Amino acid sequence: EAEIERHSYDVLVIGAGGAGLRAAIAAHEAGLRVAIICKSLFGKAHTVMAEGGCAAAMGNANGNDSWQVHFRDTMRGGKFLNNWRMAELHAKEAPDRVWELETYGALFDRTKDGRISQRNFGGHEYPRLAHVGDRTGLELIRTMQQKIVSLQQADARARGNTGADESRLRVFAECTITDLIQTHRGGPVAGAFGYYRETGNFVVFRAPAVVLATGGIGKVAKVTSNSWECTGDGMGLALRAGSTLLNMEFVQFHPTGMVWPPSVKGILVTEGVRGDGGVLKNSDGTRFTFDYVPDVFREQYADNEAEADRWYADPEHNKRTPDLLPRDEVARAINSEVKAGRGSPHGGVFLDIASRLPKDEILRRLPSMYHQFKELADVDITAEPMEVGPTCHYVMGGIEVEPDTGAASRVPGLFASGEVAGGMHGSNRLGGNSLSDLLVFGKRSGDGAAAYVATLKGVYPAITDAQIDACRRIALAPTDKQDGENAYELHEELQQIMNDLVGIIRRAGEVQDALERLEKLKERAQHIRITGGRRFNPGWHLALDLRNMLAVAECVARAALLREESRGGHTRDDFPAMSAEWRQQNLICALNEARTGVDVVAQPLAAMRPDLLALFTRSELAKYYTDAEIADVSEEGV
Ligand code: FAD
Repeated sequence: EAEIERHSYDVLVIGAGGAGLRAAIAAHEAGLRVAIICKSLFGKAHTVMAEGGCAAAMGNANGNDSWQVHFRDTMRGGKFLNNWRMAELHAKEAPDRVWELETYGALFDRTKDGRISQRNFGGHEYPRLAHVGDRTGLELIRTMQQKIVSLQQADARARGNTGADESRLRVFAECTITDLIQTHRGGPVAGAFGYYRETGNFVVFRAPAVVLATGGIGKVAKVTSNSWECTGDGMGLALRAGSTLLNMEFVQFHPTGMVWPPSVKGILVTEGVRGDGGVLKNSDGTRFTFDYVPDVFREQYADNEAEADRWYADPEHNKRTPDLLPRDEVARAINSEVKAGRGSPHGGVFLDIASRLPKDEILRRLPSMYHQFKELADVDITAEPMEVGPTCHYVMGGIEVEPDTGAASRVPGLFASGEVAGGMHGSNRLGGNSLSDLLVFGKRSGDGAAAYVATLKGVYPAITDAQIDACRRIALAPTDKQDGENAYELHEELQQIMNDLVGIIRRAGEVQDALERLEKLKERAQHIRITGGRRFNPGWHLALDLRNMLAVAECVARAALLREESRGGHTRDDFPAMSAEWRQQNLICALNEARTGVDVVAQPLAAMRPDLLALFTRSELAKYYTDAEIADVSEEGV
């Protein structure tokens, strides 16, 4: 066994997606030594897949836009379960974060008069998504990668050298963190333990502050738009460290994933297709979304095709198309059409842009979509409709954090931002609100970690050999079994359970069944055996990821069973209505005493600040709140 490699930093950022990179830039700018650790190659994080854009109320496409309108849309999208302080910070700060990216070298698409162009997206009252064609995430990551190199170059210059100096900001790529290290269970963070994917060699990072920016959980699902990295690692790490997860029952199914051919099932078809004029149709050729506008949204959405079509050119005087209802509504609508026998040949519905825009416009606005369908499905989207259906896309739940600093309050030194953190999006996220979330809260968590480190005055917790040995034993467990379970089989079974029993539509009996099956899977996972050594061994990597996926799946199922209402990304067939009483409760998951499973408890939401509450009319709030909660709100709102 090679000697275990060791490093020491002020701040560790785990994850090199949008949130992680922005956090690292912030912590470095605060004068600290920062390591960024990521499972994939630098520049290849899941964020690069983001297509449609980054929501920010810059008001370039419609001068009526403002942070208040963005805040309102976000709260409506989340059905008022959002952490309102996060939604406020997000709406206020997103425009600055987008501008700042241009100072780093990003170049967003432009309006005719040279301002940053903004496109329509579901649930956003005005065109609001800053974008680079349909490759916005790539530009975001490319730019921040470039910024990181420029910071390294500045460090080199400050020391009188040329080139890039990695001593104060370094990326450890293809390196997976398996456990956090703490002074004692639940105590302050001391560092993290992991392995290099290529060699299987172990590595220890000592640092008093860790920012978790590990992204989502899509790989728990059978059909997903997410990349291979999205195995819920950050949530698993946080739980084991004594932190808590919030509202894990809320999982977003994006309405439009590819449904065919099977090898690409789940790959995303950006909402930008509908934002730019594409419409959903069933096998009868009917634009069915008009039949699925829920009462709470009736005032904002057109009830006929003519008005919906006029809205694209004249949003001032027309109501928007229900093709752009929030994602949870559209996903359920598609689900119902397919169930009613009006689906497409491969079990989805049709998404038609071909009959709506000229060929060259489609090619200009949606180049990636054109190539994706041409290459993967041999479909020419400029000539024929796409077949699409729901795909597991995003988790609204996540690590419970303090809004202003990203601190995971129950573990000193632990911070989280991006998709791994919970609260911001309530029960359902609006498209485009993730990229802005990454920038706003990535920065805040980096600043928060830096402020925490400053309070330590250079006295950092130590890491003992016994602690390292304990992490090493856990990581090696699957390598020393004589015979046992196969990690791939367990993963498939897990995905099938979540697909069949804790999917888009949930029922108590089925979720209970899922929990029983998950218990058995957890037991079997103790006996996973991998063959071959530790040198690039995907079976071993999966065995370790499964620990996190099983924990996350259990959180989703337990919270889904407890929440007896339907809201956003959580639909209970047996409790189809939204409940004003349930709106007052967050569900909090923590590891149980014996550390064998997860406990869930309800915890009241903080009441919204009166000036924010006043941004809504009383009659709108009455759809979500109890009478007592809005007794002081006037009918007009602001
Ligand atoms: P990620 O980008 O997922 O990055 C996670 C990082 O953590 C990676 O670097 C990974 O390697 C690392 N990591 C994970 N586990 C470990 C570990 N154990 N050890 C070390 N490193 C680890 N949102 C929008 O706002 N607009 C859009 O247009 C949009 N389009 C999307 C399109 C697609 C196809 C998908 C799937 C999502 C889209 N989203 C969009 C959502 C958005 O892309 C994600 O929510 C967001 O990118 C998540 O960013 P993140 O920084 O939190 O994490």
